[in-house]
Amino acid sequence: MYLKEYKNEFEEALNTNQRELRELMKAMEVKYNERLATLKMHQEMYVRNAAEIKKVREVVEQMKSTADVAGKENEKLCGEIKTLGKEIKDSATQQQTSFANMVKTNMNKNAGRDVPEFKKRAPIVVKPRTKQTSEKTKQDLNNKINPNELKITDIKTGQNGVMIIESVNVDERDKIKEIMDTNISDGYEIKIPRDYKPKLFITGMSLGKCNDELIECLKKQNQCLEKGEVKIIRQYNVKNKNNSYYNAIIEVDEESFNNTLKCDKLNIGWERCKVYDGVDVTTCFKCKGYNHKAAECKNDEVCAKCLGNHKSTGCVNPPINKCINCIKSNEKLKLGLDINHQCKSRQCPVYLKHLNAKKQRLGY
Ligand SMILES: [Zn+2]
Ligand SMILES: [Zn+2]
Ligand SMILES: [Zn+2]
Repeated sequence: MYLKEYKNEFEEALNTNQRELRELMKAMEVKYNERLATLKMHQEMYVRNAAEIKKVREVVEQMKSTADVAGKENEKLCGEIKTLGKEIKDSATQQQTSFANMVKTNMNKNAGRDVPEFKKRAPIVVKPRTKQTSEKTKQDLNNKINPNELKITDIKTGQNGVMIIESVNVDERDKIKEIMDTNISDGYEIKIPRDYKPKLFITGMSLGKCNDELIECLKKQNQCLEKGEVKIIRQYNVKNKNNSYYNAIIEVDEESFNNTLKCDKLNIGWERCKVYDGVDVTTCFKCKGYNHKAAECKNDEVCAKCLGNHKSTGCVNPPINKCINCIKSNEKLKLGLDINHQCKSRQCPVYLKHLNAKKQRLGY
């Protein structure tokens, strides 16, 4: 009975224990679940944060690459601007060159050759003793001299009945002169004009030389001038902001002239200097016009710098870079020439017109 009593009590205790255990386990489960929930929450938070971080990282990467692209774009743009600048500069130089070429081609076209070439001439000038028409001169020649046996290459008429007769060579010319002297000298003056020797313009010599020294250099160092006649007309020093050099104008025989211009450059000392046709148009110091000298000028004084009515030296006005000869030509002949160049420019269309006319007269 005692045991029975204990057994019941024990069973009861066991049940209570079991119940308590169950409750405890339930409580534990609840706690665990709570913990798990918290953990889950934390895990979710972690995942969320990781995703956020990933996003931020992506954004950063994107920003970095955008910056790179922007940098590259910027670089590309700079490059493009640079290229464009270069292209503009190139096209400007090209335009300049093409203008220079245009003038050159134009000159060459007028000369009829690639390189100016000088022909040997043998002219005679027939000048009436009193002013008359060229018809009268021709009539007199027809009546008194038979040209059939004479080797004449060209006939030009000048002013006041003057005629210029060109023959094949000096011997033939002398023969014609003799015939003219005997037949028409009472009414006419028969003259042989002073020989025009072609001139060369040499530029860019660093060192100044005396004339004899320069002639020696030219003849000994250059095959094209070795056997030629060389005479120095003048030498002068050119000084500008950056450098100082010497130019020379020399007179040579026709053959040396033609050969030298084909060479393009001459050896002078230890330098190769550019050489050009030295033919030039007389420019008036007073009015800046062509083909006359200041001493015989009837025009007003013109300042080369500001085109004012005063001497160029000492002019305090700002330079206007306009050409008086082109302005005058436009006023007089309505040619519509570009006037935006200096009075003394070698590219001035009026200068080029006079230059070509002179070349024709000289027998290019
Ligand atoms: Zn003048
Ligand atoms: Zn002035
Ligand atoms: Zn001009």
